[in-house]
Formats: sequence, structure tokens, C-alpha cells
Amino acid sequence: MHTVVVGAGIGGLVTATLLARYGHNVTLLEQASEAGGKMGRATIDGCTFDTGPSLITMPFVLDAFFRHAGTTLQEQLQLIPIDPGCHYRWSDGSRLDIPFSAEAIPEAVGGLSPSDSAAMRRYLDHAATVYRATGNVFIFSAFEGFKEFIKPRNASLLPMLPRLRFTQSMHAMHASMFQDRRIVQLMDRFATYNGSTPYRAPATLAVIPHVEFQYGAWYPRGGVYAIAQGCERQALANGVTIRYDTAVTRIVHDGRRVSGVVTADGELISADVVVSNVDVHVTQSMLLGQSARPPRDPSMSGFIMLMSVAKQELGLQHHNVLFSDDYQREFHDIVERHTPASDMTIYLSRSAHTDPTQAPPDRENWFVLVNAPATGRRDGSWHTMRDAYAERILGRMRHFGIDPVIRAMEIRTPDDMVRMWNADRGSLYGASSNSMFSAFLRPRQRSKQFTNLWYVGGSAHPGGGVPLVATSGMLAASGILGRPFSIPS
Ligand SMILES: Cc1cc2nc3c(=O)[nH]c(=O)nc-3n(C[C@H](O)[C@H](O)[C@H](O)COP(=O)(O)OP(=O)(O)OC[C@H]3O[C@@H](n4cnc5c(N)ncnc54)[C@H](O)[C@@H]3O)c2cc1C
Repeated sequence: MHTVVVGAGIGGLVTATLLARYGHNVTLLEQASEAGGKMGRATIDGCTFDTGPSLITMPFVLDAFFRHAGTTLQEQLQLIPIDPGCHYRWSDGSRLDIPFSAEAIPEAVGGLSPSDSAAMRRYLDHAATVYRATGNVFIFSAFEGFKEFIKPRNASLLPMLPRLRFTQSMHAMHASMFQDRRIVQLMDRFATYNGSTPYRAPATLAVIPHVEFQYGAWYPRGGVYAIAQGCERQALANGVTIRYDTAVTRIVHDGRRVSGVVTADGELISADVVVSNVDVHVTQSMLLGQSARPPRDPSMSGFIMLMSVAKQELGLQHHNVLFSDDYQREFHDIVERHTPASDMTIYLSRSAHTDPTQAPPDRENWFVLVNAPATGRRDGSWHTMRDAYAERILGRMRHFGIDPVIRAMEIRTPDDMVRMWNADRGSLYGASSNSMFSAFLRPRQRSKQFTNLWYVGGSAHPGGGVPLVATSGMLAASGILGRPFSIPS
């Protein structure tokens, strides 16, 4: 059985590895010269940067993958807990550190807003209930939409529905539970973990803060990119043939079946099964040549600044968030008006704070990420506003007393996300979760149209983020091989 996997993102690597381990002859074709896709890395002025994910949750998912591949997470990576998990600042001068340990979070919140300490305890209990009720249906299994509700094994889900708050927005739930607008904003921000707006995403996404608080925020020693390297090692160890610098331009199909792929060099590679780790919409439109409609509501993109800065004590932690003054307006700008926010929330990761191997002793590696509209294009216009927007972000940072001495900087815009990964309009996580029906509309692993074409990665079920795309890879491998790959949740 020859399988071609297109794309060496985490989803592609996971699927390729498991298929190879269980008997397929697997060829993995990647357009870039290294593995990882959005989980990328860069070196600037002697500093090493993770250019995609910076925070890892649900480590048990990666462990499940590594175990199915014949090793363990512990053998492959050294995960370091990040404590505090995140340092938050508001422009009124207030600050809050959220500790790594879930038990300590309500008390920490009480330090900023005493009345919200008990509310946070209630919230965490509620979020744990939602996760227990939905995890196995919406994340860890091949999802069959509304059919899930009539499956005997999910019988307990129906009576739970009102408690899952599908119809309420995340923001509405947070505003009803917390009194302090800063705590509401802090909790609302979790909607952005899959590129959504808290003003539309369903309150069911309380599972996102739950998994970060309950399972912790982790960092692999040597950089997040160590995860991509670990996955690549497993692919090779299990016999996958990886060909880098090999872009696929077409998936060959006839009737209800695909029969192989054509590379940019014109080479035809036949396959019994094709797995696409490329964005589902891009796969359908560019690689299958179909007139597929793009998702109406893509997840947000990002505006990124990779900065080597002179070391300076500014009271920052590893993960830092500087909030905008008007969150609703910020999301209105980005998601409804498709324009960069004028007053933006700034995420700043300094992994050298935890891991000195990431920067020389006199510098720090600052990864700055601001949510941006998914308006990226290959021939796009972001380059005309790029420098001015970066200047605006730096100006906003100064407002928080953060005025770095920048030694070198590289900027990436949504246009770059299209160019680098073929991401639909530069969106970071495929379709957004801006509706209660998003999970139902997200493409499943098996193509509806072609019986031997499979989708893995952030734009397919169960969605974006490292643990979810790894899950997606395990679900695809499971569907193709007809054997389960359990993920103890
Ligand atoms: C800036 C940023 C910050 C993020 N932060 C976090 C975080 O903190 N925590 C977290 O869990 N997640 C985070 N994510 C999300 C996470 O990185 C992604 O969800 C995940 O890595 C996507 O994996 P994937 O399997 O969908 O593949 P992708 O990473 O999308 O990879 C797809 C691969 O396919 C290749 N490809 C595309 N077209 C072709 C073609 N025609 N031929 C051959 N190859 C092709 C691409 O080059 C790429 O390597 C972040 C993402 C970004 C960009």
C-alpha cells in the first residue's frame, strides 16, 4: 500500500509515522526545506526563535503519539513547566501573573479582583465539566456531526446540552461570571487560541482555558521546534521517505478516487492513498482544481515581529500579554472590518527567559504576535503598511513601559503565511470557531468526495493548535488503517 502525504506539518508527520509503522509504504512530500510547517524556527542576530507555537498544552496527546510510534514523550523531549504561565498587563498599570498550578489560580485572580476569586473556582469547575462531557465527542474521536447525539455511547451528552452553553458567546458567559472587566478580558483571550473572537465563539470553548490551566503551559527545552524534530525523527525511524523542497501542484483524481500527485517538477507519484496536510480549502481549490467555496469565517491571522533585543530588566516573564483598552473594538476591527486593530493586544514570548540556549547572554529573543485579519494574499498589500504597523505596536509597548533596544528585527505578515504554508488567506487555524456550528462544519478526516483522500491538520477536525493537529493525524491514521490509536484524555 503506497501512501503519499502532502505536507510535513505536525499533522502530516503524525499520520505518516503511524501509517509507516503499521505497514504502509509512505512518501512525505514537503515544499519547504525542513519539517514543522507553522511550527517553524528562525535565527536572527544569534537568537533562536520559535516562529509559530510558543506554548504547549495537553502534553498527554503528544505522549500518546510518541507511544504509538514506539517511543515516549519523555524519551523525545524535556518539557519544562512555565510558572507563571502568563504575565498580563493593562494600560492602567495593573498586572497579574497566572500561576502554572490550577489550584493557585483563583487566589491569584483574587489579588487583582477579590470578588472574582470564588467565581474563578466556579468557572474552573464548570470548564472541567464541559471538557469531560465534550472531549471524547468533539476532540478525540472521528466526529460525525449531529449523529453523535444519537449514539448510545454519547447518551449522557443530550441532557448536558444546556450546561455546555453552545448558544451563548464566550464573552457573554465571562461577563456574567466575573465582575472585573480585566478578568473578563483575560478569559476572553482564550478564544484567540484557535483564532476566534470571544464575542461570537460559543462559551463551550471554556475547554481552552481548562486545558491550559489543568494540564499546564509547557515549553520543550531547546525550543518548541524540538517537537517537530521529534516527530520527524519518528517518521524516519518508522521508515517514511521524506522529500523536502518538493511542492505538490496537483492531486490526480478520477471519479471517486485519487491516484497520485504531481510535483512542481512535473513528476507523477502514484498512490493508493493520499493524505493532505495542506489547508483543506487550498487542497480542494489548488490541488484538486475544484471550485470549492472558501470558509466564510476564517480564523484570524497574525502580525509577527521577531526581535533580537538587548537584555534589560522590564519585569517581564516568559509569556506576556499587554491588553488593548477596548477588546470589543479590537475584534470588531479584525474580524468584522478585516482591518488591523488600531489599539491592539500584544503577546510577547521570551523563551530565553526559561532557556538560555535560545539567546546569547547579552540579548533576548522577543517573539511578538498581534492578531490580524485573515487578508493575506500572495500578491498582497500588507508590505505597504508593514513597517508603519510594526512602529505602532512598538509605540503601544512603550505605553506599558516596554521600550526595547532592538538589535535586529524580522517582520512577518498574513501575506507571508500564505506564501510560507499555503494557509488560506493567512489564517492560522483554518476556519474559525466563531459559531456554535463551527465544529459541525469543519471538514472531517476522510474526504466526502474521494474515498481514498484524507485531510489532516488545523483546517480539518478537530481544529488548530498542536495537540489538536496531532490528534487529527492520529484520527486519520486510525481511519485509514482501521485500527484505533487511543488518546487517554
Ligand atoms: C504564529 C503562530 C502561533 C501559534 N501559536 C500556537 C501555540 O502557542 N500553541 C499551539 O498549540 N498552536 C499554536 N499555533 C498553531 C499551530 O502551529 C498549528 O495549528 C499547527 O502547527 C498546524 O499544523 P498542521 O498539521 O495543520 O500543518 P501546517 O503547519 O499547516 O503545515 C502544512 C505543511 O504543508 C506544507 N505544504 C503546503 N502546501 C504544500 C504543497 N502544495 N506541497 C507540499 N507541501 C505543502 C507546508 O509547507 C507546511 O509544512 C500557532 C501557529 C502560528 C502560525
